[in-house]
Amino acid sequence: MLQTGDLEKLKHSSIMIVDDEPINVDVVQAFLEEDGYTEFVTVEDSREVLEALEKKAPDLLLLDLMMPHISGFEILQLIRSQNKFKFLPVIILTAATDTANKLRALELGATDFLAKPLDQSELSLRVRNTLAAKAYQDQLAYYDPITRLPNRQLFQEELSWALENNRRDHDQVALLNIEIDSFASVKDTVGVDAGDQALQVIAQRIEKVVRNSDIAGVVRIDGNVKSRVFHFGSYVFAVLLSRIADAESVAPVADRILEEIKLPIKIGIRELGFTASIGIASYPNDSHEATDLMRLASRAMDYVKQRGGNQLQFSSSAISSMYEKHIKLETDLRRALKNQEFLLYYQPQLDLISGVVTGAEALLRWDSPEGFIPPNDFIPLAEKTGLILPIGEWALTEACRQLKEWQQLEKGPLQLSCNIFVKHLSDDQFIHKVKNIIVASGIDPQFLTLELTESVLIEDVEEKIELLAQLKELGIKLSIDDFGTGYSSFSYLRKLPIDELKIDRSFVKEITTHSASRAIVSTIVYLARNLNLLTVAEGIEQLEELTFMRKHGCKLFQGFYYSPAVPNAQFLSLLEDSQVPRAAAVFTTAAARCDRSSEGNYPRSVAAR
Ligand code: C2E
Ligand code: MG
Ligand code: MG
Repeated sequence: MLQTGDLEKLKHSSIMIVDDEPINVDVVQAFLEEDGYTEFVTVEDSREVLEALEKKAPDLLLLDLMMPHISGFEILQLIRSQNKFKFLPVIILTAATDTANKLRALELGATDFLAKPLDQSELSLRVRNTLAAKAYQDQLAYYDPITRLPNRQLFQEELSWALENNRRDHDQVALLNIEIDSFASVKDTVGVDAGDQALQVIAQRIEKVVRNSDIAGVVRIDGNVKSRVFHFGSYVFAVLLSRIADAESVAPVADRILEEIKLPIKIGIRELGFTASIGIASYPNDSHEATDLMRLASRAMDYVKQRGGNQLQFSSSAISSMYEKHIKLETDLRRALKNQEFLLYYQPQLDLISGVVTGAEALLRWDSPEGFIPPNDFIPLAEKTGLILPIGEWALTEACRQLKEWQQLEKGPLQLSCNIFVKHLSDDQFIHKVKNIIVASGIDPQFLTLELTESVLIEDVEEKIELLAQLKELGIKLSIDDFGTGYSSFSYLRKLPIDELKIDRSFVKEITTHSASRAIVSTIVYLARNLNLLTVAEGIEQLEELTFMRKHGCKLFQGFYYSPAVPNAQFLSLLEDSQVPRAAAVFTTAAARCDRSSEGNYPRSVAAR
């Protein structure tokens, strides 16, 4: 029988009201809302009923008989001819005296009737009883009697549903097939009752992991992921995750399920220990068909079992190897932090007019035992795992240490730029940490520039302005990195307390070939000058690019044309070279030569200045 909690759950049932008179729809909904129901699907055009049914899968249908286009009779007939709606309870709304129509509707499969005009208490009672009867039937047909979790039957229906919806929205779906290792032999030893109790505990633990609110963060950033746990009977469970961003991101969920299941289970005086095997298949990577996906997940699970259980396995070999690569990279990153495998390299920044090195951008390098790994290969994963925070703090600390050394060596007023990871901006200790690092290093903070990419600044602008203002109070400089790619409006630039714009390399690269990029770059420089901001051109590889930047008044540049990021010692010798007047002269003459050849009658004064 249904319990009190179940009756409360009925209030979340989805009720579909179909009537061509809007006023009738409103009245029914208002009455039911008074009873505490919250989920409604209302349809006034009978032609839309079937589509709404498909999409919303209501628990109860309140159906008017007399409607234009398609009558209630026809709708009833259509519904009952489809397997998935065979058992949907339908209450017909009709005039009390209409016996002939009532009989006809009954023959077509109506569940009950309600007389128009509606009596509120009558409606309340019928709806509650019908929903309760359906819930009871569903429980028998769709729920496991031991764990009270939805069963395989319901899983199949929900999987098909999820596939259909996600296909439309281009989202992904993953299904986890979970078998408790050696459960049968434990059950033989401890008896059926203890076995059932253990299953109940396991079910609750899986549900806890899946219901846990931060699963949304794991699986999909915007938190739209839908999840549900099923019990296929005996010791097999399944988890359905839909609207996920990518298949391999469900691995942490599976990992946590494995961890939870491993915790000891106390039953009476006994303590039982279990492990599980998890197979994962996903749409659209593995298949578009529900039955295929179930087969593949189960096969992946068998594969784990054969290798001793207590593991997860993706069905697709591509995802599997991606996942293994990630696991390895994550372990390697932890080791790298511990063993100090990270280094900073320094890419010189030069004054476009004098050719003198004025400072550098500190760029992270990972000297792993397998060779140098570029930042773009490990930063995305480090961001996912949270390791990015200690890595970023290390980089800033090291940059400040280096800057202090330069300041002590009296290498001239060198400006050092350090990149800040997006994740740091949501760390509420960030300002505090930066301050501590700066103070501990003993640097003169005006020579430290922090670079933030443009894309992170355009969300929650007011909040970001406040954050930047607090950073500025530390006495440092602020730069917007990769400027031009984030689609920020020029007007909001005015409000940001920044000192510098770094023009993204994608525009610089196109200067010689695309007039649009030339226009963008010259506009950025013009704008920056008017806002009193320093401009830095990133990724200058060719003399033509350098010349263009100089001609349009850009202040600094960095790029392979002069030097990639190099270790400190090498940076210092580049610095010294650039300070020799002769070297600077060569630099400017070369640029001027290029001015003449590529830009026609470009005035010599730029080179001579
Ligand atoms: P970014 O801050 O825009 O850094 C510029 C990137 O462009 C660097 O790549 C640099 O080596 C590269 N580059 C410089 N000149 C040229 C050139 O002439 N041609 C080409 N093709 N590339 C050039 P890298 O070092 O691989 O860094 C990539 C990104 O990783 C950086 O982009 C930055 O967002 C991030 N990153 C690197 N180090 C750190 C760090 O210490 N902290 C943080 N938060 N992010 C870092
Ligand atoms: Mg940068
Ligand atoms: Mg950049």
